[in-house]
Amino acid sequence: MFFLILDKDASKMLFKNTWDSFLDLLFPRVCLGCTCHLNFYEKMVCLSCQTELPLTHFNKTHKNTLYNKLKLNFPLENAIALFYFEKEGKVAQMIHQFKYLGQPHIGIYLGHWLGDTILASPYLKKIDGIIPVPLHPSKMRKRGYNQAAIIASALSEKLNIPVMEKTLIRIKKPNLWLKLAMKNVGGR
Ligand SMILES: [Zn+2]
Repeated sequence: MFFLILDKDASKMLFKNTWDSFLDLLFPRVCLGCTCHLNFYEKMVCLSCQTELPLTHFNKTHKNTLYNKLKLNFPLENAIALFYFEKEGKVAQMIHQFKYLGQPHIGIYLGHWLGDTILASPYLKKIDGIIPVPLHPSKMRKRGYNQAAIIASALSEKLNIPVMEKTLIRIKKPNLWLKLAMKNVGGR
């Protein structure tokens, strides 16, 4: 004879896992990278694709490649990117679905992943706010959401750091024409 003793949290977890498995049977979820069926413990990308994604590991280096490129244009403390971008491949596929096929939940997943990466970094400890680059209103109308704002909000949730959405204002359509709303950064 044996007894299985579950505390409140463990029984909740068991119920959640059973419920997730049941939902997976009814509505099978597929991997964003290879479209295979996901197991209940996999979120959006299967374990096999996760190992193949071109992660940068920039969180482990202080002066990484991205930092060295960006510092030529403006002063900065550090820089991070989750993946190397490739024109084709799993990352491009995910970004395309997120940006153009109306799947904002992909941004939340990526934002949480980036948040975990930042939390694991010894170099990215002093972040005061998260500023998403705004979309031009015409693009916003077309797309329905700003992908940077979605990632920012997921990051904010993970890192417990505020999103400062009104700090940057887009004044023209081309990407580089951005204006800082100075009243939000000290009124100078
Ligand atoms: Zn996969």
